[in-house]
Amino acid sequence: MISIMMPPLSLAQIRGSAARLRNILGIPEDSYVDIVKIMDNLPDTFGVVVEIVPVQEMGEKHGETYPAAKKIRLREDVYDRACQGYGRDRLTLAHELAHLILHGPKKIALARVSENTRVPAYCDSEWQANAFAGEFLAPYRFARAMTEQSIQSKYGVSAAAAHVQKSRRG
Ligand SMILES: [Zn+2]
Repeated sequence: MISIMMPPLSLAQIRGSAARLRNILGIPEDSYVDIVKIMDNLPDTFGVVVEIVPVQEMGEKHGETYPAAKKIRLREDVYDRACQGYGRDRLTLAHELAHLILHGPKKIALARVSENTRVPAYCDSEWQANAFAGEFLAPYRFARAMTEQSIQSKYGVSAAAAHVQKSRRG
């Protein structure tokens, strides 16, 4: 994953964007998100091209997003596991969607970051996409009062994501 230096986004701003997206898509604010259905509908809802790419063509990458071209590419096995409800792969789909929403042409990357440059977390495109993905699937407002086990089962996220989401205070 390549981190791109972006204008800063606070956790509060990211939480606001995730909540707005739920609202736009008509998803109740504390319910399970059918992220596969959202992906499948992206061509119709937002004119986004979603490609499911064979593993051998995609290699190590699980997904990649080209916000300016409105295009998301997902590795086939990742998409298939997301369809089966695997939390880690569901999060990957939400992560790619986050790049599309947060890192569109109007917020074009300022600089590609080299290996040894330290990027403040709030300016890191990967941090931003992860924070958005966690918040979109499992809103902190509700997750904060739940056990990690119940976050996992209610929102369909991995144990690792449930832990991260619950501990993001902001
Ligand atoms: Zn990413």
